[in-house]
Amino acid sequence: MDDDVAQPDAKSTPADRGERLYNFSAGPAALPEETLLEAKEELPVYDHAGASVMEISHRSAAYDKIEEAAREHIKSLLDIGDEWNVLFLQGGASMQFYQAPLNFLSEDGSADYIITGRWGTKAIREARLVGDVNVAASTEDDDFTHVPDPADWDLNPEADYVYLTTNETVNGNQITQDPVLDAPIVADASSEFLSRPMDLDGYGLIFAGAQKNVGPAGVTIVLVHDDFLEQKKDGLPTMLDYGTHVRKRFNTPPIFPIYMVEKVTRWLLNIGGLDAIHAVNKRKARKLYDRIEQSDFYYCTVDEGSRSMMNVTFRLQDADLEDLFLKQAEQHGLMDLAGHRTVGGVRASIYNAMPEEGVDALIQFMDEFEQAHR
Ligand SMILES: *Cc1c(COP(=O)(O)O)cnc(C)c1O
Repeated sequence: MDDDVAQPDAKSTPADRGERLYNFSAGPAALPEETLLEAKEELPVYDHAGASVMEISHRSAAYDKIEEAAREHIKSLLDIGDEWNVLFLQGGASMQFYQAPLNFLSEDGSADYIITGRWGTKAIREARLVGDVNVAASTEDDDFTHVPDPADWDLNPEADYVYLTTNETVNGNQITQDPVLDAPIVADASSEFLSRPMDLDGYGLIFAGAQKNVGPAGVTIVLVHDDFLEQKKDGLPTMLDYGTHVRKRFNTPPIFPIYMVEKVTRWLLNIGGLDAIHAVNKRKARKLYDRIEQSDFYYCTVDEGSRSMMNVTFRLQDADLEDLFLKQAEQHGLMDLAGHRTVGGVRASIYNAMPEEGVDALIQFMDEFEQAHR
């Protein structure tokens, strides 16, 4: 060791030393490090464009290529064709809560909602501003500790659409079937989009805020099927009409977030696509759930069979130890493990960009913490 080089304070934490930590945040969440390094490499001049990607026109050939590549990657990952329109919109997934019913909830019709957590609850509130909605299933009375079996959904075959949240980020549950129903499905897939192959046959519209699994905040990826678009209402405000964005690039898109989505989706293709990442994601989740169940020091908050592969929510049997657990985890380089402020406890968000080693590090910390405090 070179004595002239200042050594880091032995007591300082990885964060104090300016290191990149294992980031368990639910969103904005971890991005693959390669994509960040590539972006860094492409600043301040992007590919002979004479300026950085943040400074070029959204009508330039350079930007056309980026957006088209991002769109093609998503279609290729999901193995879908031109009958699906891939849009890059703003306003977050939260805007979709209103935009989807505005476009598709007809004046004399109604929509069926499946409520499995906090985000679905917010979505139905917005839909009620537009028209008639029916709660076809809800697990609210059980604190969203499980998802209802599709066989028990009380569906109206005439519904304009059936709305569901495929992964409830706060509550830690997931609907893993891709059902095919009488009515087209409108799905909020924000916190699991591109984490697994999906069978899109039953869907009409799928949306996902990028900042969970696919990119930085600022863009919402919206997939809308041509057949479903035929049900769309007319006379809508231009920016809130999906048809506008299907037809043309109406206004300035969020170029930098889309540029990052292009990189993250290319990274996914390069590592083998959705089958490959799904295998890794299943392994990570299984390991972590197995560790939680291994002793009664920790416990899962969601029933087996409904547990999310992406947002693993759990508690310590001795709730008084949770603050210390979270603080010491951070000192061990494991950041943002606190459960959502409305539910507390611990939540490990293990999206695509969380390497398996990050989950291993968390499990090792859980072992050590249990030994010290049991
Ligand atoms: C984060 C999240 C949202 C909200 O996304 P915004 O982009 O902040 O509007 C909606 N639904 C789910 C499932 C989420 O995880």
